[in-house]
Amino acid sequence: QRLTKEQVLQMVEEQHIEFIRIEFLDYTGVTRGRTIRKDSLKSALEKGVNFSTAIMDFTMFDTYVPDPVYGANGGDFFAMPDPETFAILPHRKQTARMFCDLVDENGNPWEGCPRGALKRLLHEAEALLGGKIFMAYEQEAYLLKEEEGRLVPADNSTCFSSDGVDIQEEFVQKFVETIGKMGVETEQISSEYGPGQLEINLKYDHCLKATEDQITFKQLFKHLARDMGMIGTLAPKPFNDFAGSGLHVHMSLYNEDNNLFKDLNDEKGLELSENAYYFIGGILHHGRSIVAIGAPTMNSYKRMVPGSWAPAHICYGSGNRSVLVRVPEKRRERRFEFRGADGTCNPYLLSAALIAAGLHGIRKRIDPGEPLEVDAGNLSNNELEAMGIEWVPRNLQEAMDSLAKDTILADSIGRPIWQEFIKVKREEWNKHFYRIDEWERSQYAVLY
Ligand code: GLU
Ligand code: MG
Ligand code: MG
Repeated sequence: QRLTKEQVLQMVEEQHIEFIRIEFLDYTGVTRGRTIRKDSLKSALEKGVNFSTAIMDFTMFDTYVPDPVYGANGGDFFAMPDPETFAILPHRKQTARMFCDLVDENGNPWEGCPRGALKRLLHEAEALLGGKIFMAYEQEAYLLKEEEGRLVPADNSTCFSSDGVDIQEEFVQKFVETIGKMGVETEQISSEYGPGQLEINLKYDHCLKATEDQITFKQLFKHLARDMGMIGTLAPKPFNDFAGSGLHVHMSLYNEDNNLFKDLNDEKGLELSENAYYFIGGILHHGRSIVAIGAPTMNSYKRMVPGSWAPAHICYGSGNRSVLVRVPEKRRERRFEFRGADGTCNPYLLSAALIAAGLHGIRKRIDPGEPLEVDAGNLSNNELEAMGIEWVPRNLQEAMDSLAKDTILADSIGRPIWQEFIKVKREEWNKHFYRIDEWERSQYAVLY
């Protein structure tokens, strides 16, 4: 159900909602906002709720970046709740939440707003392509418990085992039921490769809705796990020895019922249309920067290694899980999947980067070349070089170096966001890289 302002106010009355969470995402992907009381909702819907722009200077440590883009004297932006995102939180008392557009004091889109950047790009792309962009976000995540002060998997389930789903039945059913009531449909539930690791697939939807469904997924996964005495995490690589958690984004383009990414006469044999290939070409062209936006933490780069089913190279293919962009087998609806992101990203920025890259690919008719049929992780560096296949960034610093050079993406997403995102992430690198942990201390102290 997509509501108007009036319907939201009415619903709040009828359902006895007292608390409304006014939410938006900062560049680290963390949801920020405030809870307002029922009586302030009407004014919030009309005028927005103000925040200092400096909130977008935050790093994951809740500190401001040095030399921030916005700063303490940058004034305020106003979070305008979008009535279409109104959802009651069935697992909380008398509480609802709304996602917001961030606007400036004149009510115009604020330059630093990730949701605004996505909406702008989506509009541009759909006008050019003559169809609607659909996405489905597929998130893998772990359920953990605390044992003697350490975090360990909540169970010992194995890959695709039915028992794995059974062990977490209570959690899974509560999750599916609750997110369903919030207007998000789920499709499949699997026990993933790691112990305690699950994948719950969300149904595809129009790009903005699908992107926000991912935000709902992340919040709810954490809330419900906590309610049940566990820790739910989307962190990409929580353990050395167990599989990482990826975030895969499926993309398709429809005009009514016509799949515009489909062409049965395709010469490359994947039954994709010319625009689908150019879109993929654009994604590969900007591959390192999209990875920088989609996999933006220190931990992210420990997941994307050869032989892990997470992409370590910039290439595409069908039925090949080592690639950055995978085209599902022909029996399935024509679309493609970006595999280079994880749950630590800001999904608005990820969707925006994918669309910006796709648009560039289409405008410049960027040919992605032939699909790769072998596991890229088994190729030597010489072979990779001969085939023109690049590595994904190997760590957060490399990722930011690549993104910093990508002025095309910068102009599409907006320079202030791009600049501040890089600053926030470089600060994360600086803080983490210069820390000496127990492993490093014991290794070096013994050997030297
Ligand atoms: N866990 C893998 C990743 O990190 C993906 C496994 C799969 O294809 O489901 O992306
Ligand atoms: Mg999976
Ligand atoms: Mg997948």
